[in-house]
Amino acid sequence: MKLNNGFLWQGSGLLSESGLRISCWSPVAMDARNKIGIFGGTFNPIHYGHLRAAEEVREKLHFEKILFIPSCNPPLKSGDLAPAEERYEMTRLSLETNPFFDISDLECKKRGKSYTVETLTALNKLYPEKSLYLVVGIDSFLEIPGWRQPERLMDLIHFVVVSRPGFSFSSIFSMIPEASVANLSEVDGGRRECYKTNLKNGREVVLLNVTPLPISATAVRMLVRRGESIKYLLPDKIESYIISHNLYQKGGEDL
Ligand code: ATP
Repeated sequence: MKLNNGFLWQGSGLLSESGLRISCWSPVAMDARNKIGIFGGTFNPIHYGHLRAAEEVREKLHFEKILFIPSCNPPLKSGDLAPAEERYEMTRLSLETNPFFDISDLECKKRGKSYTVETLTALNKLYPEKSLYLVVGIDSFLEIPGWRQPERLMDLIHFVVVSRPGFSFSSIFSMIPEASVANLSEVDGGRRECYKTNLKNGREVVLLNVTPLPISATAVRMLVRRGESIKYLLPDKIESYIISHNLYQKGGEDL
């Protein structure tokens, strides 16, 4: 059944009435292959929270690929930041086994701070035929008003906002007043897997429930500093890389 939000849903509203989850079927197949997810992050280090969320976005929304863009000189993050080339390399290594994942050095080869608005302008020129979606966790989406030129940024790209433990979709209502509060609560409650709304500027915002993995790079760094295990929080290759390159052993931050 096609709903007025543009998605085809598996089954009908009866599914939710019977207490079952309304799952997010594919957006109309015709143009799905034209969509690329842009996944930016500090990746300090990359972990399964990032990788699983990206994979679910790709599969559930039928994206052609997910392009990971490590932010080599992030304007808003400091503290225990591993060197840009190490974070880039860990990201590259962790994507090797997924044919739908790719990495871009757009922000790493640039001198100076990595501003998302500049990256997106460059990406729109690189992929004029594609629909680009910036993939962010709820926490990052909430931070956008503090980024450089937030309004221009929101005009440049569609969004996929993924769930993250500790954050609710209802909290982003002020940033997407076009959304229905009832629908936001349904996604929060897990009765809807995804929900799409259109902003006044014509851009789409897709909210997607992904498998909740309460993993953060901050927690990984803290465990390393304490000499505790980081096994199963990130790929084995990344665990070995962190150990062999002595990353995160010293640092000022704590949880
Ligand atoms: P840190 O703890 O150092 O702040 P982080 O774990 O939040 O790092 P980032 O590289 O800052 O990782 O995040 C990149 C993107 O991935 C952000 O949009 C963030 O919201 C999202 N993200 C990170 N961890 C998860 C997770 N466990 N589940 C869903 N999304 C996540």
